[in-house]
Amino acid sequence: MNVLQVSAEIFPLLKTGGLADIAGALPAALQTVGCQVRVVLPGFPAILDDLGDSWVMAELTAPWGERLQLRQGRLRTLALDAYVIDLPHLYARPGSPYEDAWRQPYADNHRRFALLSWVAAQLAHGLDTHWQPQVVHSHDWHAGLTSAYMAFMSHSSLRVATVFTIHNLAYQGVFSPACFYELGLPHEAFGVNGVEFYGQLSFMKAGLYYSDYITTVSPTYAREIQTPQQGCGFDGLLRTRSGSLSGILNAVDDAVWNPAIDHHLSNRYNVSDMIGKSNCKAALQEELGLTIQADAPLFGVVSRLTDQKGLHLVMGAIDAILSRGGQLVVLGTGDAYLESLFKARAAQHPQTVSVRIGYDEAYAHRIFSATDVTLVPSQFEPCGLTQMYGLKYGSLPLVHSVGGLADTVVDCSLENMAEGRANGFVFDDFNQQALERAVARAFALYARKPEWKRVRACGMRQDLGWQSAARQYAALYRHLCA
Ligand code: ADP
Repeated sequence: MNVLQVSAEIFPLLKTGGLADIAGALPAALQTVGCQVRVVLPGFPAILDDLGDSWVMAELTAPWGERLQLRQGRLRTLALDAYVIDLPHLYARPGSPYEDAWRQPYADNHRRFALLSWVAAQLAHGLDTHWQPQVVHSHDWHAGLTSAYMAFMSHSSLRVATVFTIHNLAYQGVFSPACFYELGLPHEAFGVNGVEFYGQLSFMKAGLYYSDYITTVSPTYAREIQTPQQGCGFDGLLRTRSGSLSGILNAVDDAVWNPAIDHHLSNRYNVSDMIGKSNCKAALQEELGLTIQADAPLFGVVSRLTDQKGLHLVMGAIDAILSRGGQLVVLGTGDAYLESLFKARAAQHPQTVSVRIGYDEAYAHRIFSATDVTLVPSQFEPCGLTQMYGLKYGSLPLVHSVGGLADTVVDCSLENMAEGRANGFVFDDFNQQALERAVARAFALYARKPEWKRVRACGMRQDLGWQSAARQYAALYRHLCA
């Protein structure tokens, strides 16, 4: 089974969030279940630089008349065959792939990402005479137009199935309707039965409307997005597509996120030898100028600082954490108001609160290794990866019961503990009191060391690997191609 994966990001070459982690891990996981995967990517500098021994496999003209080269080669870091769009004018820009230095979306984002989809559609339509995908699997709004382009191409005898995965429905790729006419789609595509979304153009809508099948990254989120509360305006469409929509829970790449082999850590450890974790905690406390105290529960946040992540609840709960003798370490970047609020709290409590604004992959690993609790109080969360990294690193997740958080974290209630299923702390109501009660439960359990260790070990032993998800994707591909 030949599968073409279409995404804007891929770990470790370019990452702004969980999408990259999944796009980086899924190809290798799919290879283990018999799929041959190639990827098509925009030619961001980090991606082009990694493309070894590449050649120009096609010269093409974009729908708006711009010439481009499509390079083919192998991504050295990932040992993965790739097609990369070489058009520096669109992609050779420093910093975020989506925004300028003032955090404004680039004015030509519609072209930059439509081109990704348009090229993917050419590949689906036989552009590479040596390799023909049977399935095109595109991810998030950046790749949403792929299925739309494919739907309007002249039909050959070959049928190529399309799968579209929603990693976050809140990012919808919405553009002015004027942009539509540059993109080379036929007039009739701009309608309610097409890419039109409340008078605008939405790349996400294109993926939802034209793909043969829609997946999202957890079973609970697949149900939630069919409700008006969480459907972001798409719930009606998603309900009509409910027979072709399901959730496949994301997984963790054990080669990247594994405290037993993690080269980012000062000390390595595993579930039967946890000394290294205590050393990681002491080392981080020392590095950050926090009081070096083994028995002070250390809470961690590694997150985009946006309203979605519920961090105003953490802000409100800082006193509850500190008054009980806890400490807090935050790594994140995002909304300016959250950045400055967190920085101000760290300045008030230099020995118990540390806040670093920025994006730092290695430091994120060290936080999961050092902390006792990973806070993920998201208002909504398609899957969430940080709670899973917390589980693997023995940092008990404390989460709001939504989306993939609800699918991966089991609260330390007495019955769950008795059944040996508990692996963290879960709160239902999205408010500060509920979060603080969960924080209080974390302190109560922390005081009972044998039980804390049992719960922590349960989390660390949990199977979060790719095998199950890869099998489900492969089964879906086979079903669609049958
Ligand atoms: P989302 O994709 O919504 O941001 P996820 O939990 O699915 O949330 O994935 C977030 C990913 O980004 C994780 O790999 C997490 O470790 C990483 N991450 C988030 N913020 C930072 C940061 N400031 N520095 C380093 N890694 C970060």
